[in-house]
Amino acid sequence: MKSLVLENNQNLVLHSNAAIPDAVTENSILVKVAACGICGSDIKRGFGNGAYHYPLVMGHEFSAYVAEDAEDGRYKKGDRVAVFPLVPTNTSEPAYQTGDYAQLKEYNYFGSRCDGAFAEFLRVPIKNLFPIPDHVDMVHASMTEPAAVALHGVRKMHITAGDFGVVIGAGPIGNMTAQWLKIHGCKDVAIVDIDDKKLKIAEEMGFIPINSKHTDAVEAVFKLTNDQGANRVVEACGLPQTFLQAINMASRNAEVVFMGNIIGEFKIEEKDFSNMLRREITIYGTWNSKTVPVGNDDWSTVLNYMDKELQVAPLISDIVPIEQGKEIFNSVVEKRKFHNKVIIKLADKL
Ligand SMILES: [Zn+2]
Repeated sequence: MKSLVLENNQNLVLHSNAAIPDAVTENSILVKVAACGICGSDIKRGFGNGAYHYPLVMGHEFSAYVAEDAEDGRYKKGDRVAVFPLVPTNTSEPAYQTGDYAQLKEYNYFGSRCDGAFAEFLRVPIKNLFPIPDHVDMVHASMTEPAAVALHGVRKMHITAGDFGVVIGAGPIGNMTAQWLKIHGCKDVAIVDIDDKKLKIAEEMGFIPINSKHTDAVEAVFKLTNDQGANRVVEACGLPQTFLQAINMASRNAEVVFMGNIIGEFKIEEKDFSNMLRREITIYGTWNSKTVPVGNDDWSTVLNYMDKELQVAPLISDIVPIEQGKEIFNSVVEKRKFHNKVIIKLADKL
């Protein structure tokens, strides 16, 4: 099969005769990958010395077709599925018992700890499959994972109708986070970024754009909220200064979610810290997504909302075949042109 292999840092090689990797756990099933998105973490992993090991096939945001009938009859060849990429490896852990897999200490992960979906076929645990509803486009379904991460963060908060929301970061996860804020009841949602193109997309989708290159984002938010500040803020960018902005733009009794992986060190001055205490702000950390409680879990909810209330098509800048995988990765890394969500198409017909 075709497989895009990270042979060492900054070195992707397309193999045309790669073997299908063995199953990483029992009760696995063969799937044919349909589409797989490039995540920001893949850039760090593949081009910033961030890989666990070499060689590695990256790719954890994917949709697929089941490629064989499941023994238990739950899936048939051809079924369309999204795949939760985290695989528990120690069934005695409490988080395994509760199904809160993101809290496991020991786990495997497609595309980072074991080979992932920038390849035509993969064996994945049946438990990790989520059927894709008929109304959802197969390429869009490859964005189920980042959409679930966005939803997971938003679900930390207690949003009430009429709230003012802000998301810092206008990339795909930030934009989807803003959409979830609205779906949950925020009346207005502002998105902060320095990228005009991403802000334009956000504006066209009904969000208030704030370009923090030209404006003080904190001041802008207070201006938009009658000097009250934002009720719900999500930091989805990952810079020390944007974490501080998130806290400083929050209203009294606000909730703030830290979603971005920080690059650098977060420092807060006495004045800002005291302000945070006096305004009685709640800060949540968030990571990954949840596949419980079944039916109302992050993944099933995303798939029910996708291509309806949750729009991902405007966020996709490129869809390319795996033959162009290496080139598109290099273009993203070197910022040769505007890229937003980049998706590698593995199946000819979707
Ligand atoms: Zn990711």
